[in-house]
Amino acid sequence: MSPNGTDNRIRDVVIVGGGTAGWMTAAALADHFRGSRMTITLVESSSIGTIGVGEATIPTIRQFYQSIGLRDLDVMKATHGTVKLGIQFDGWLNPESSFIHPFGVYGQDLRNIPFHQYWLRLRAAGEQTDFGDYSLAVALARAGRFTTPSPNPPSTLSVFDWALHFDAGLFAQFLRKNAEGKGVRRIDAKVERVEQRAEDGHITGLLLDNGDTITGDLFVDCSGFGGLLIEGAMKSGYEDWTQWLFCDRALAAQGNAISPPPPYTRVTAHSAGWRWTIPLQHRTGHGYVYSSRFISDGDAEEELLGAVGRDLKMAPRRIAFTPGRRKQAWKGNCVAIGLSSGFLEPLESTSIALIETGIEKLKQLFPGRQIDPRLVDEYNDWSRRELQRVRDFVILHYWANQRQDNAFWRACREVELPESLLHKLEMWKRRGHIIRYRWEMFQPSSWLAIYNGFGILPDGYDPALDGYDVAGLSRALGGMRNAIAQAVKDCPTHSEFIERYAKADM
Ligand code: FAD
Repeated sequence: MSPNGTDNRIRDVVIVGGGTAGWMTAAALADHFRGSRMTITLVESSSIGTIGVGEATIPTIRQFYQSIGLRDLDVMKATHGTVKLGIQFDGWLNPESSFIHPFGVYGQDLRNIPFHQYWLRLRAAGEQTDFGDYSLAVALARAGRFTTPSPNPPSTLSVFDWALHFDAGLFAQFLRKNAEGKGVRRIDAKVERVEQRAEDGHITGLLLDNGDTITGDLFVDCSGFGGLLIEGAMKSGYEDWTQWLFCDRALAAQGNAISPPPPYTRVTAHSAGWRWTIPLQHRTGHGYVYSSRFISDGDAEEELLGAVGRDLKMAPRRIAFTPGRRKQAWKGNCVAIGLSSGFLEPLESTSIALIETGIEKLKQLFPGRQIDPRLVDEYNDWSRRELQRVRDFVILHYWANQRQDNAFWRACREVELPESLLHKLEMWKRRGHIIRYRWEMFQPSSWLAIYNGFGILPDGYDPALDGYDVAGLSRALGGMRNAIAQAVKDCPTHSEFIERYAKADM
């Protein structure tokens, strides 16, 4: 009820789009508002289809689907999923380099001093150890092993997290079943026209190609890159970030399943971008993300096929995009979630995670029918900051390369960094300090992984460790490495885990 006694509640929510964003939004809102009188209608066009990529996730996806009542192993089975413990970066620092960005922490903090300071202290004393050896997720990934983390905090097996690789189409279908089970109405039709109120531009209805008109109070635009509502009707505007992120094309293909499937995503540097390898139970996703300024589409395709072979289940399909963000992800009574709200690029699998946070923000700031502009401003401010922080993290990967072989990688090194990233880098280099902002998707351990992987190390270590007994420290760190190596030995292989608990019915 509004203060003047009228019922201001949103009654009808209309979602346009039945891709990952549309069905995640529908399932989450249906769950959140269960028992209320709100109706949720999703319009999707099977003649247009979905983008059909987006198959690597980060661990927050598990919180998302658990919050709507789905369980890990059921999702894995239904989506032919595999485990993702992190991302292996091959050839990014230089052509021979390889490191893993894991999900989970490194070592153990002591006396309120972060673990990496102890590692730096030992390094300064002349003992160089592999930072990855202090991460259980890295050790599991390297060994091709997996077990679910222990819920018991003192256990060595409690200090990692995991995510999934899944078939995007199957994931959307699984969510659709969940959402429809909670009352979401689905309409298969194409939106042909958007009707808007003259005085403020709010959307009043959608004219469909079957002749029907769908009316609503709040419209969620999950229509993909085109942004049918947020751009087509609301003219939100787009902020282009190609000055920092050069990749603007992808070639997506599918190959045969890898046996045994690695429990991580692999991203391999190429001449004008990078190639993903995403293992699923029934197939492997391959793709080349590249910059059209540095390579032609034809040459990119040859490079991709040269790397993955021509025996493919699906030939390369080209997707063009402009890295950046919608200036106002929420405008009037329209909220854009998914690709319609912006897209950086696939590196670090952030897009589905941004769908999750978009939904979460919408739930937290859910308006009444008289939409309070302060809620809209808050949502947009939050989205802008969050995306800028993800952008900075992704830029770091390119900027930090030391490849000498071609123009693309040289140009990436010469990019003028955003002030926000420069400040973060300075704090790290001067003091080994990792700034943690509000609404930041990536935890300090992720920044650590990338800094270390690219050999960006601080000038010194925490001065509190000056008087530390180096021999004792060496023994303690050796103990940590051994505990991790020991714990990994006892875990099943990734294939055994899938076979035993998560085998898809194919
Ligand atoms: P889409 O899948 O494009 O869905 C749009 C929907 O809108 C469709 O159902 C379509 O039919 C409907 N629609 C459009 N117009 C109309 C109309 N007029 N009438 C009715 N319906 C309409 N993200 C990750 O997190 N991890 C990854 O590994 C990853 N890899 C990616 C790789 C590439 C190359 C690209 C381009 C993206 C990648 N992403 C990744 C992003 C990920 O694909 C998207 O975030 C995710 O698929 C959500 O897409 P969407 O639902 O917003 O759009």
